Amino acid sequence: MQKVDCLIVGGGIVGVAVARNLQSTFSNLKCLLVEKEDILAKHQTGHNSGVIHAGVYYKPDSLKAKLCIEGLKRIYEYCDANHLPYRKCGKIIVAVERDQLARLDDLYQRAKQNGVQDVRMLDSNQIREIEPNCRGIRAIHSPHTGIVDYGLLCRHFGKSFEQLGGRIALNFEAKKFLPSDDPSYPIRITSKTNSSYLSRYVITCGGLQADQLAMACGGSKNPTIVPFRGDYLKLKENTEKLKINGNIYPVPDPKFPFLGVHFTPRMDGSVWLGPNAVLSMKREGYGLLDFSPRDMVDHVLNGGLRKLAWKHLGYGFNEMRRAYSLRATVHELQKFVPALRVSDVERGPSGVRAQALSSDGNLVEDFVFEKVNTGDLKNRILHVRNAPSPAATSSLPIADMIRLLSIIMSLAQQLVEMGFQQSQIDSAINTGKAANLEQAIDWITSHEGEVASGSVESAQPTLNLSSSTAATTTEAASEANSLKCDECGKLLKDADMATAHALRTNHSSFSECTEAIKPLTAEEKEEMKKKLQERIVARRQEQKIAEEQKAIEMEKKRIVDGKALSDLKQKREEEEMKKIAEANRREKIETQLAKQRAIEQIEADKRARREKAAAEKNGGVVGDVPAPKPQPIVPPQPARQYDECNLQVRLSDGSTVRQLFKAADRFEKVMEWIRGTQQSGPFILVQNFPKKDFNENDNHKTLTELGLVPSGSLMVKALAHFQT
Ligand SMILES: Cc1cc2nc3c(=O)[nH]c(=O)nc-3n(C[C@H](O)[C@H](O)[C@H](O)COP(=O)(O)OP(=O)(O)OC[C@H]3O[C@@H](n4cnc5c(N)ncnc54)[C@H](O)[C@@H]3O)c2cc1C
Repeated sequence: MQKVDCLIVGGGIVGVAVARNLQSTFSNLKCLLVEKEDILAKHQTGHNSGVIHAGVYYKPDSLKAKLCIEGLKRIYEYCDANHLPYRKCGKIIVAVERDQLARLDDLYQRAKQNGVQDVRMLDSNQIREIEPNCRGIRAIHSPHTGIVDYGLLCRHFGKSFEQLGGRIALNFEAKKFLPSDDPSYPIRITSKTNSSYLSRYVITCGGLQADQLAMACGGSKNPTIVPFRGDYLKLKENTEKLKINGNIYPVPDPKFPFLGVHFTPRMDGSVWLGPNAVLSMKREGYGLLDFSPRDMVDHVLNGGLRKLAWKHLGYGFNEMRRAYSLRATVHELQKFVPALRVSDVERGPSGVRAQALSSDGNLVEDFVFEKVNTGDLKNRILHVRNAPSPAATSSLPIADMIRLLSIIMSLAQQLVEMGFQQSQIDSAINTGKAANLEQAIDWITSHEGEVASGSVESAQPTLNLSSSTAATTTEAASEANSLKCDECGKLLKDADMATAHALRTNHSSFSECTEAIKPLTAEEKEEMKKKLQERIVARRQEQKIAEEQKAIEMEKKRIVDGKALSDLKQKREEEEMKKIAEANRREKIETQLAKQRAIEQIEADKRARREKAAAEKNGGVVGDVPAPKPQPIVPPQPARQYDECNLQVRLSDGSTVRQLFKAADRFEKVMEWIRGTQQSGPFILVQNFPKKDFNENDNHKTLTELGLVPSGSLMVKALAHFQT
């Protein structure tokens, strides 16, 4: 299976710009871009108005505002450097009714605030100078707005990415993102057709599928992506009577900034009119009747969409009307170009916008980038969740930002490996101001103490994304007056930091301080950077040693456990053997007792026969004959006979007593003597035979075994008892 450092999903302009940016910054990085279609730019990037926006509309300080202004400049630079065609044809935003003037003025202020270059307000005569066929009361003119073919630009980015060493895999629809078994390449990305790649990091730029991709990585459903189809009309001919020089736009409704049909010249000389915006029945459906059951189910289940539809039924109806009626759209456009007739237009292509919607039914206006912060793949995956217009214009600075976020994500991963808490890292990232690796390391090293102790509090994300302003922001922050904690003397950058400090430490008084938080000198930064790197190396070594130590301990335990186990086994085996020996011994005794009983029976029978014979001799009356005195039971002569037996008894106190017995008096006398010797407690009987030397080892043998007394006798039983 192929392994890569970073896998980018999505071959639209955002994904390809990101891939190219990463590959050109880090030439050693193995980057792979996967796209589900057979060509790049098949969806939004290849189906849009082609306007290079100047940043008039967007909320000051929003990502859209910053990245659009930077994006316009960068696109022109890129096209110039690579000899790609574009036209700086300008744009006018025209108020055609008096009640639009206040909004137009606000928009003008906003454009100024955003730093849109050379914007000015036009009166009706000036409007005609720029667009002779256009009528209006007043208009904002943005001369640097331009047009370009974004599909072409995207494919050029793709070629450049490949030339830098990146790879593009078309027809790969990423479906599953799961943890892999390989710790160096922890994400396994599997396609719809079951082919897979392993990667260290993943960045998804899925456009209309952004929410689906985030969910496939275990992310949240919201914001959901709602597809809005826009149908364009085309001027049949760009004749003198209807000549359109640049972009003509209406004053936008703040509630739906993307609504409102406009005139847009194209790079091929044609003019597109529109588009409208209607809810599409298929995420990537460009035809009026395109339909996807899955997407329709998503719509029906989407609570946010229901709320949006309910709130804005009127807008929806108007847009639907324009989708079906050429006349309705032309009527709207005639407000700007009165000479336009239905006969001058024909139906053109369509595009589908990916509009992010929050669960409460509000359109998410700004770009949304989301790092995966939980689960097995945390700090490994970054999602572009909302990149609507002007994301094509902003694609190059968006790519800068994603590169920065990826660097911070990988730094965060390193910090996690070093043992920092995720919350501390998030604080560091949220308050960080950096536009490249250097600045990210600078920031983290200069706040290392605070990051480690967790005293860096999260503030509004203030990542400075535009490369031109990023460098100055760090300086600006350090030059600003700070607040001083009266209790511990700590310098705090601003009120937010002071509040955070107060919450954390319970310190409550702060005074204005003219002493600025001193920026680190270049040497100090270098020093900090070195320290951080040394810490990373030391930490890794510590971890390695700890792991080795753990392995040794486990091995030791394994050996000790194994030995204990084998000892136990041996003991059990020995006990088992003893039990078997004992059972054998008992069995033998039982057999001998049985034999003894049989012999005694035979003897008794013999005696009875002898008595009968004697009685017959005495006159045949058995009963008259006085009963003979009962004879003591004489044990049968064993096979081996001994004349005498020298018995020695070892008493419980260790001393011994001995007695010599004759063969004839062995049984009764032995018993009597044994009873007499037993003072208390058990004792051991030792047999000794006169014809043998006394042998201690014989002490475990019974008299029966030695052939001294018949089996089954009391004597034998007593011995058996003593020996157990
Ligand atoms: C009608 C319309 C007009 C617009 N006008 C302008 C304009 O004038 N100026 C401007 O700046 N912006 C405009 N925009 C917005 C702009 O086109 C988009 O913001 C931009 O193209 C977004 O690029 P993207 O790469 O995020 O998405 P896309 O171009 O949609 O690319 C996403 C890609 O991801 C791929 N993908 C999705 N899921 C997977 C998967 N699972 N595996 C592999 N690949 C996957 C898709 O196939 C697709 O190629 C317009 C948009 C529309 C629709």
